[in-house]
Amino acid sequence: MITLKPLPDEHIYSYLYRGYSIYGIDAFQTIINADGLFKRRIGVIKPEHVRPFIARARDISRACHLSGFACFSLELQFGYKTQYFDSSAIPPGLKIVPLNKTKPHEISFCPRCIQSFITTYGCAYLLSSWLSSPSHCEKHNTLMIKISPKNRKEALFYLKKIFIGIEDFSLFEMI
Ligand SMILES: [Zn+2]
Repeated sequence: MITLKPLPDEHIYSYLYRGYSIYGIDAFQTIINADGLFKRRIGVIKPEHVRPFIARARDISRACHLSGFACFSLELQFGYKTQYFDSSAIPPGLKIVPLNKTKPHEISFCPRCIQSFITTYGCAYLLSSWLSSPSHCEKHNTLMIKISPKNRKEALFYLKKIFIGIEDFSLFEMI
């Protein structure tokens, strides 16, 4: 059983962001650095942070792979205890391992794509192809919007607006 599926070509940060938002889970530090960028390394996410919306690691493996990660060993069961193989510990949680990642990612998006996702799927999401910070959207031939937050709080402020389809951030005061 899976309660929340990644949308077509969605990146893993977007998927986890939606899961945390929908289920009211305060675990955004697992995907966004203190400096406001998407984390290069995700590592192990605690079971209680993802258990409400992920059932099996393989259901999100494509979203991980498209984002430059491998994910495996979803040890989310209640009662699971950390296991040891030689000197490696396998703690409970979702393990997301970077593949050839050299830097964290900026938050960027095409506002017209976001609008079409909201119309088609009933919600916004971010595409894995946007992680490489393209200058424009090939589908709409429009400039991508790039966000330069100063910290995680600002990144979350902008993401909240992006996910409800707002592109003109000047209309909003930072809190
Ligand atoms: Zn677009």
